[in-house]
Amino acid sequence: MKIGNTEIFPTKIICLGRNYVEHAKEMNSLIPKEPIFFCKTTNCLIKTGEPIIYPRILYENSEINRVDHEVELAFIVRKKCKNIKSEGYEDYILGYTIFLDITARELQIQDRGINLPWYRSKNFDTFGPIGPQIVEDIKDPHNLKIELKVNGEVKQSSNTKYMIFKIPEIIEYLSKYITLDPGDIIATGTPSGVGPIQPGDILEATIEKLGTLRNKVILEEE
Ligand code: MG
Repeated sequence: MKIGNTEIFPTKIICLGRNYVEHAKEMNSLIPKEPIFFCKTTNCLIKTGEPIIYPRILYENSEINRVDHEVELAFIVRKKCKNIKSEGYEDYILGYTIFLDITARELQIQDRGINLPWYRSKNFDTFGPIGPQIVEDIKDPHNLKIELKVNGEVKQSSNTKYMIFKIPEIIEYLSKYITLDPGDIIATGTPSGVGPIQPGDILEATIEKLGTLRNKVILEEE
């Protein structure tokens, strides 16, 4: 897919869970001692300006109809990594962008309660807006303002300096378990302030130096 002027061919999207203390607290979850990661699939990916489709299977069931926004800093892998060390991690990064880890929250909580994975709740079509561009020249990815607005109102506002596990550590950790390939998308977790979205909402995710990712939420057609 083309994000801004950069064409990438991701083989996977890896997301960190609970990587900001305040978000872990708002979810009543423990602060992780090592990175928690899960996968999203490429059917989630949409670009700026494209709609997030609110699935009818959620909308029509009041027990599972909450869908949340999660704004995240993402980086794109530049070259194959396996068992790499954190020093010189920049060599493995093509650039940075904004990612929205849209989550069917009640479905996630329900599945977690019966020891099922997060797969269903995280991987509806369009649940991974990304963009608007990939920015290569970011000297310090750990000091960027990160914000999300819904219909012009600020819902999430933080700074990437509050990430628990920073990017060098994330890339070293992940590459112990799996091979990261060029174009892979790694999302570094969301700060606090996550909350529900509704059909008709306009989401604007902004990270300092990376621009603004805009997506409207629409209800899936019958
Ligand atoms: Mg997330």
